Amino acid sequence: MLPQKIYIIGSGCFGSTLAHLIASKLNRQVTVIDKRSHIGGNCYSYDDADTGINCHMYGSHIFHTSIKEVYDFISQFVTLNHYRHFVMTRSNGTVYSMPINLRTVNKFFNKDMTPSECKAFLEEKIAQSHIDNPANLEEQAISLIGKDLYKAFIRGYTKKQWQRDPKELPSFIIKRLPFRTTYNCDYFNDTYQGIPVGGYTKLFEGLLNHPNIDLKLNTNYQDIKDTIKEDDIVIYTGPIDEYFDFCFGKLEWRSLDFKWEVLNEQDHQGCACMNEADEDVPYTRTHEFKHYHPERKEVLESNKTIICREYSKEYKDGDTPYYPVNNDRNQELLAKYQEKAKNLKNVFFGGRLGTYQYFDMDKSILQALRFFDEHKESFN
Ligand code: UDP
Repeated sequence: MLPQKIYIIGSGCFGSTLAHLIASKLNRQVTVIDKRSHIGGNCYSYDDADTGINCHMYGSHIFHTSIKEVYDFISQFVTLNHYRHFVMTRSNGTVYSMPINLRTVNKFFNKDMTPSECKAFLEEKIAQSHIDNPANLEEQAISLIGKDLYKAFIRGYTKKQWQRDPKELPSFIIKRLPFRTTYNCDYFNDTYQGIPVGGYTKLFEGLLNHPNIDLKLNTNYQDIKDTIKEDDIVIYTGPIDEYFDFCFGKLEWRSLDFKWEVLNEQDHQGCACMNEADEDVPYTRTHEFKHYHPERKEVLESNKTIICREYSKEYKDGDTPYYPVNNDRNQELLAKYQEKAKNLKNVFFGGRLGTYQYFDMDKSILQALRFFDEHKESFN
């Protein structure tokens, strides 16, 4: 009998990590297919030929994790540079530090409070809202920072990002953001942070350049699925509803549009990411990619820069899916697809799209490491 073949559909964080583990630890052949012309999924980045600026094609990706196992895993292939994510946000014509920290609060209220004064000041504001058990994003945000800061920094941005009232969104989304009464303005709390020196594509090349991995780009799963035999193993990292031809209906996603510009100036905004908190500014943020590589001094000092403005939109057929929309309807639909998936013998789902989860890169890699531990005996 011919050995089972292993197919991995999608070369993002989950698919590439798993392909590497199967190829290197089990010494098994793996075919990785991707419909795009490049590896890395939405983490893909490339050096712009004219400026040498490393651009993130699908919006800013900052690697951050507190999971040592994940950090050690990626460190086999890349070194993280010393970039720290310090985001700024513009609200009503003034630029503030984001996430909300002591500097933001003092500037916004035109005060000079110490951390404990700030805590007491905000606690009083929070108490005025009388929210005991926050049930949605709006209530969660107000119970953390009070109504004024919520209206200035969260409400408009969130409405643009999700095209939904923050009352209709789950509270976990806002818990992604730290809130501090110190001057620490780091966007993330994680132990390990940075951008791979050489860019993200170096990480994916490191994962996929292996003699046991057969990589087929520009290849649609639909076009090869008839060649896959019943006993072969398929690890599918595309949207789970797509795999089942949307038989129960379509899961909703948020998608993004990017408007790119090359500018003849050294530094456009002084940071990698400028958020726009006001609802009447149509885009959510502007990325200026040269800032992600402080180690590329010549590129930083050159008189050219590349920016891109990010516009959030409802996903339609043909768009790139980015963010799952976590509401009851979609969770119920997802449960139906997951139930159907249980009946498939050799097909598994993983990654942000395959499991319909709002994952960061490290969580996708961790999911692949765990998946490998769980299934390696049966793949051997
Ligand atoms: N958010 C906000 N104002 C900001 C930044 C974020 O209201 O300036 C909210 C918004 O609801 C967003 C969520 O916080 O969806 C999570 O933000 P994060 O930066 O983690 O989003 P991502 O980078 O994944 O798009």
